[in-house]
Amino acid sequence: MPESRLHFAGRVRQALNDENLQRALTSAMTGIRGRRDAGFADFDFTKGREDLKQRRRANLDRLPELARQFAERLEAVGGQVHFAADAAEARDIIGQLCWNAAAEHARGAGVRPVVTKVKSMAAEEIELNPYLESLGIEVVETDLGERMVQLTGTRPSHIIAPAIHLTKEDAARVFGTEPTVEAIQHHARLSLRQKFIEAVVGISGANMAIAESGTVVLVTNEGNADLTVTLPPVHIALFGMDKLVGSYEDAIAQLRMLTRSGTGQRITSYVNWITGPSRSADIEQSLTIGVHGPGEMHCVILDNGRERMRDDPLFREALTCIRCGACSNACPSFMAVGGHQFGHIYNGPIGLVLTPFHHGLSQADLPNTLCTQCNACQEACPVDIPLPRQILEHRRHGRKSLRKRALLGLWERPALADRVLRAGAPLSGAIPGAPKLAGRPYSDRARQTRGLGDPLTIFASCMADRALPEAAVALERIAVAAGFDVGFPKAQWCCGLMAANAGDFEGACKLNTSLAASLRDSKGAIVTPSASCFGAFTIDAGDWGARAGSDLVPRFRDSTRFVLELLEQRPELVRRPAERPRVAYHDSCQSLRQLGLSREPRRLLELAGYEVVEIPDIAKCCGFGGTFSFEWPGAAARLAQWKLDAIGKTGCGLVASDNPGCLVHIAANARARRQKVRIAHVLELVAERLEPRPVPAR
Ligand code: SF4
Ligand code: SF4
Repeated sequence: MPESRLHFAGRVRQALNDENLQRALTSAMTGIRGRRDAGFADFDFTKGREDLKQRRRANLDRLPELARQFAERLEAVGGQVHFAADAAEARDIIGQLCWNAAAEHARGAGVRPVVTKVKSMAAEEIELNPYLESLGIEVVETDLGERMVQLTGTRPSHIIAPAIHLTKEDAARVFGTEPTVEAIQHHARLSLRQKFIEAVVGISGANMAIAESGTVVLVTNEGNADLTVTLPPVHIALFGMDKLVGSYEDAIAQLRMLTRSGTGQRITSYVNWITGPSRSADIEQSLTIGVHGPGEMHCVILDNGRERMRDDPLFREALTCIRCGACSNACPSFMAVGGHQFGHIYNGPIGLVLTPFHHGLSQADLPNTLCTQCNACQEACPVDIPLPRQILEHRRHGRKSLRKRALLGLWERPALADRVLRAGAPLSGAIPGAPKLAGRPYSDRARQTRGLGDPLTIFASCMADRALPEAAVALERIAVAAGFDVGFPKAQWCCGLMAANAGDFEGACKLNTSLAASLRDSKGAIVTPSASCFGAFTIDAGDWGARAGSDLVPRFRDSTRFVLELLEQRPELVRRPAERPRVAYHDSCQSLRQLGLSREPRRLLELAGYEVVEIPDIAKCCGFGGTFSFEWPGAAARLAQWKLDAIGKTGCGLVASDNPGCLVHIAANARARRQKVRIAHVLELVAERLEPRPVPAR
């Protein structure tokens, strides 16, 4: 039975309130991100990504052929290949192999056979451990983190760092030792030594399986993998068919990006290249199998939904994932709630994408709603998988909360929304953390076109209109000062982004179509102070199936680039003070990662006489995320808290951005914690620098 929303919300709340977990997550994830960035200091990420992406996609096209080739090459050197269509089949195959090994290499009647294991997400995927335990086999995880997870009876909370949610105090409790790294490791080493020797089977996954040679590659650091795959008489490697690569060159290209993306290492301590069972021809040149290492080597290649994914044009690229974990490390929501909440067995951004294929939609549709669509995961992904878009696609088919449905229902009825928002405005500021609505929306005060000068149309966006009308007023003032004849079609409302982000593409199309109709008779450039709405109208709407506004796209301009061009051409429009006020600039996710606006807003502020200060952000997202902050106020507040802490570190009393949603959200959270900081749209700061000139009365 799928988990209820109430239960899931309880887990999220508990995670947010768990100080130990919060400490473990923020310290581990900020550390790992720093190491990742350092790892790419001497290696061009963009080039490496392009090369790997091409290789992985080419291999994906040839998967069936690679699987055949891999099997032929491995069998030629004495290994065996088994294909498993699903998790149950894979469990049966492995269970039988373990049982055979136990019978052949038994240490005496009544002695429970031991199987050692290297950390493997494929084994987690098929829930192998409980199955083997049910057969009377003792399963011993040998990776330190995975062993901690096993002993606590939980699941890995990160695909490459399974115990990232645990502190050393937690680990000490698990092992019954002093809370020092040395004591914990010493205990783990001693307790595992005998198990390595007793094991009848060693089970591993595979980071890569090279078709041209039948080689399995394992990339590890601790040394446990070497002991697991060489000491027992039988080695079983379980991996998804997506792990197949064509050649050594493919494997090396992947290795370079994997270690840097995952842990920031140029190379890990151990990389095992295993091609069949152990063998020797030292005695009279006669080949014998199984010398120091295993006499049997089996590879179990798993489908379990992967072929279905390969057939799907949108999800196909998820099979190029190299399981580096960089997407989880980049994800602000993951850092806030941890992998046990942000995913199912596979967690993190890639987990939200894979789970519906391996374990069913209902196992990840609630965690899916924790994604703010910030795009940080795709930015860090070494194969450029469009994770946010894939997550959104699953969201379309998942359960939607009553709260979200009510909000979307309201938004899709502009006349009703208008009445409700006006009625709610006086009270809105009293709710801690909630946006303060404007008593007088921009639509009430917008200037009417006068027929003098070049025409320009303002699309305010529903957010600026109702919660940050100052941004639209500032845009209007700048445009008027530059001599434009400004118009504002009154029927305009929402571009549809909020509905689309909530997984309601039909609603998004409806809103987008109405907006296009309201703007159709307008004149000149259509400029918006909302970077995310600009991206939604010009880039995303096609994805939702909204085509009505495509003829308007060439007229759309984001306010940052538009005003920057104005000031570059006409610097006399503004006056610059002798002393430049310091302003901390917040990059909104869409602005930075969808529109590539990084230099532009900073340059614009500088031209208007400000000194821009960078925010040492640990989350890369303020937590607004459209309906995310409405659905998960606690998680959204945590992200805003990190942002406000970072703003505090700059010593600036002024923060700017070009996205009304972010500004309103940051301001609401600053109010809730009584942080004294002025939060303003870039346009407001520019408008305050306009040379004084008579402003025509409204
Ligand atoms: S888009 Fe942002 S919040 Fe969503 S999964 Fe990716 S990194 Fe996490
Ligand atoms: S989706 Fe990309 S970043 Fe995430 S684990 Fe896979 S390869 Fe790494």
